[in-house]
Parts: sequence; structure tokens; C-alpha cells
Amino acid sequence: ERIITSNIREEDNQIENGLRPKYLKNYIGQDKIKEKLKIFIEAASARKEALDHVLLYGPPGLGKTTLSNIIANEMNVNIRITSGPAIERPGDLAAILTNLSENDVLFIDEIHRLNRSVEEILYPAMEDFALDIIIGKGPSARSIRLDLSKFTLIGATTRAGLLTSPLRDRFGVICKLDLYTVQELTTIVKRSATILGVQIEQDGAIEIASRSRGTPRIANRILKRIRDYAEVRADGKITKSVAKDALALLEIDDLGLDQVDKRVIKTIIENFNGGPVGIDTLAASTGEEKNTIEDVYEPYLLQIGFLNRTPRGRMVSEKAYNHFNILYKKE
Ligand code: ADP
Repeated sequence: ERIITSNIREEDNQIENGLRPKYLKNYIGQDKIKEKLKIFIEAASARKEALDHVLLYGPPGLGKTTLSNIIANEMNVNIRITSGPAIERPGDLAAILTNLSENDVLFIDEIHRLNRSVEEILYPAMEDFALDIIIGKGPSARSIRLDLSKFTLIGATTRAGLLTSPLRDRFGVICKLDLYTVQELTTIVKRSATILGVQIEQDGAIEIASRSRGTPRIANRILKRIRDYAEVRADGKITKSVAKDALALLEIDDLGLDQVDKRVIKTIIENFNGGPVGIDTLAASTGEEKNTIEDVYEPYLLQIGFLNRTPRGRMVSEKAYNHFNILYKKE
């Protein structure tokens, strides 16, 4: 029952759909991205054209799916949502593409996980809004070109580097989502509390925000757990002390770190003398998946300065030694 995970659970789906802002003006933070998108959306709308293809990248839970829905709403078009692993064969993608209406949005989550033969269908579709179909086999085989409606592809991925360069090059707009500030997360927590009908004090919201490692999804998950706690142990209102007690129970420390963060840091300190250690070795010795460490844990540990990435691998900083009360020995 981890709070910090990239797995989307059923409870998340139910709750997240209700908490998703629908328009740019309710989407908190990511100001540079919003400003850029606002201009592109306005221009494309005025020309009654499809928006350029958009690539959104950043750690899970930062609002990529939300933003894609918002783009479709702002453009006043339909959105079709799918994901890289869900599209198994070229025919699956062809079926989706031929069903899109003019200027629709096609959202492909985890777009880096498309297989090669599917990805190749996407190139002419993105570039020329065309589908190349091979008919027949052997010497009589010929290729025919089918026109598609103009559409906007929005691709989401955790790291832009995971995409092949021909795919990456076909996106006109590339946006990197950053971890959110405590202030932004406080606003998100208060907004979610209002939607969920939970009473929360400013200090309670700040407490949750500061332990959500820059991630709205984690903030919303924590809020939901603390709501249960507040209903059972307090009078339903989330104050600072209610939040603190509940977070202690959830084993989330005052920086938002959980048992896995602790294990990652302690492994580097205890087994590798503070590093540098390569990501594969680190994954093997902590029993966590490499991708989970890179996408879910590391971004925040880098942000708070507990980890440093060097060409020779990951190193733990003095700050992390202090946080876990381990004596720092300089070499
Ligand atoms: P991703 O697709 O990047 O994994 P999501 O778009 O599913 O992330 O966002 C996870 C949850 O966080 C959503 O339920 C949404 O309510 C909330 N959220 C994300 N970004 C924002 C934001 N900028 N403002 C308000 N809520 C947000």
C-alpha cells in the first residue's frame, strides 16, 4: 500500500477524475508551459486548425494526462486516450487514427513504449496526416496512401531521452514538467479538499504539501488518507497536528521520504561508501526496479540535494548523511 508509486490504482482513477482541473485557468503551476500553450491554442483555434503535436515529459503524477484533457477542452475537440503498451499492432493504431475527427486530440501515454512497427505508422500520420498501407504480398504488393483527418498527437513520457529521435523530432511543441513548489501544492491540496468536501486548515494543507515530493498525485493520495484518519481520530477537520500524526502513521517523514528512499540512500552509504554507484548496481542491491528508481524516487532526491548524478554514478550528499543521522566521513 505504497503512497509513492507510479502504479495507478483503482482508487486513484476514481478520485483523480473528479479532481482533474478542466481548463488552463484551474491548472496550478507550470506557468511557462501554460503561457506557451495558451498562445498556441489561441492561434490554432483562430485558424480553425489542429494544434501542433505536443510532447509532455516529466515524472509520473505531475499532470501530463490532466494537461492533455485540458488542451482538448480548450480547443473544443474530442480526446482519445490510449497508451504505448496498449497499442500492440500497426493495425490497432491505424484503426484509432482513421476514427479521429478533424482537429481531435490523440493522447498516447508512455509513448516511449510503442513498438517499432507501430511507431513507423506514426511518422507519416504525424507529418502528412496519411496512412501508408501495403496491399498484397510479394511482387504484386503495392502501397496505397490513405488520408487522415488533421489531428494533434499528445505524447507523454517520463524522460524525453526515452524516445527515438525520429519520433521526438516530429513534435512541434516539447514541454518539460517540473516538480511543484510547496506553495503550488498547498493550493492544489486546498482545491482538492474543497472538491472532496474536507475541512482543512492552511497549516494542515502546508504540512501535506511539504511532504508530497513536488507531486500533485502524491498530495492528493495523502490528502485522501488523512481525510480517513481525521474522520476516525479527530472531528474530521485536517489541522497541522492531525496531518502530522497521520503522516507519521503512513511512515512519511518530514521531507516526504518513505522507506524506499531511506533504503536507496542507506544502501549507497553502507554498501558503496556513499557512491558513486551505477543505476543498475543500485537497482540490484535495493531490490527496486531501475525505472522506478529513475522515474519515481530519484527526481525528488536530486531536487532536495540528497543525491548527485556524476558521470561515474550516483553519489549521496552530506545533507543526506545528516538527515539520516549517519556520520559523514570526508575522503
Ligand atoms: P500524469 O499524467 O503526469 O501521471 P495526472 O495528469 O494523472 O499525472 O495527474 C495526477 C493527479 O494530480 C490528477 O488527478 C490531478 O488532479 C492532479 N494534478 C496534476 N497536475 C495538477 C495541476 N497542475 N493542478 C491541479 N491538479 C493537478
